[in-house]
Amino acid sequence: MPAAASKKSFRKKRLVLLGATGSIGESTLKVLRAHRDKLELVAVAGRTNCAKLDAIAREFHVQHVGVFDEAAAHAAKKSGLFAGRKMHVGPAGLEELARLPAGDMVVAAVVGTLGLKPTLAAIKAGKDIALANKEILVLAGQFVMAAAKKHGVAVVPLDSEHNAVFQCLDGERREDVAKLLLTASGGPFRDYKRQQMAAVTPAAALKHPNWNMGPKVTIDSSTMANKGLEVIEAHWLFGLPAERIEVVVHPQSIVHSMVQFVDGSIIAQLSPPSMTFPIQHSLLYPGRADGVTPTLDFRKKLSLDFRPPNLDLFPCLRLAYEALRAEGAAPGAFNAANEVAVAAFLENRISYLDIPRIIEATLNRLPAVRLRNIDDVLDADADARLRAAEVVKKIKKR
Ligand code: MG
Repeated sequence: MPAAASKKSFRKKRLVLLGATGSIGESTLKVLRAHRDKLELVAVAGRTNCAKLDAIAREFHVQHVGVFDEAAAHAAKKSGLFAGRKMHVGPAGLEELARLPAGDMVVAAVVGTLGLKPTLAAIKAGKDIALANKEILVLAGQFVMAAAKKHGVAVVPLDSEHNAVFQCLDGERREDVAKLLLTASGGPFRDYKRQQMAAVTPAAALKHPNWNMGPKVTIDSSTMANKGLEVIEAHWLFGLPAERIEVVVHPQSIVHSMVQFVDGSIIAQLSPPSMTFPIQHSLLYPGRADGVTPTLDFRKKLSLDFRPPNLDLFPCLRLAYEALRAEGAAPGAFNAANEVAVAAFLENRISYLDIPRIIEATLNRLPAVRLRNIDDVLDADADARLRAAEVVKKIKKR
């Protein structure tokens, strides 16, 4: 490499993007296109969508490509995709990318538990983490945060609410924080009555008023299970107990979260509901640069509403708090049961109100186990999925 080129690239932050083909991946690429002078993509990985991965690798001149699904990787290679690039296949391939010497920061945006081991591998290799994957902290928050502390790496939250809290806390002393106020849109059913909730179909639940996201997180947003997962994430990221993390329904999704301090002052972060804002902040942190999406214009009328959440209408949120207070394997079981229930709902096997029923029944059946390491975490996850699947079967028979 010529000296001039290596000197120039030395200043760029080199990113490994795990989960390049999903909705967070797409927004991340939008930010990267606008900031090629500051950010460089050195590796991308996805689960199965090889055609899209190949297009991204060509557009950003990425040498290292990871494909989680081994059969998909094999078929892609046979059909001539990824020519001239180094491929990293399967779970081990994702871990290789996470440790890649050329990477400074790993964007953890792969959905589900398969993001867990690569993220820990990245932390142990001293890479900073931009964290989008919720399961990582919900399942293994204690292990991930302890490893980050031990290896001196920054875990910068990319989720809009946690990124907002992160921005509000910047420069503040932790002992001055009274509580976190996580905002929630409340989803499309925030004004429903309980009887109306019983008739909700997958098609209705897949229409989110403000955010454009994948199907699983859109359903989670409509049940507020997503906010429940975010409360658990916030607990690990910011080290506050459940009773000091409050959820506020804010239908416009403009205030992405707030922090209340001991003197009663409240600091908020505002931006339009686009993921490019929190993604750009976490990738460029501690710096800032021009945004890629137009921001709020206060020369036009703007109204912001806030109200407390209705826990009777959204039992998933109540159950998430209960799981967080129960600690151990309970938060992970909340996540596992919710995933099993949402998949069954999307396949029309259960009704909408069965989703919280399945979570509650799974949490009630949980054996007391001590999680000593990541393998224990993954075992507990598999066990909770089996228990939730049994509950689904019983509900179907009714
Ligand atoms: Mg969020």
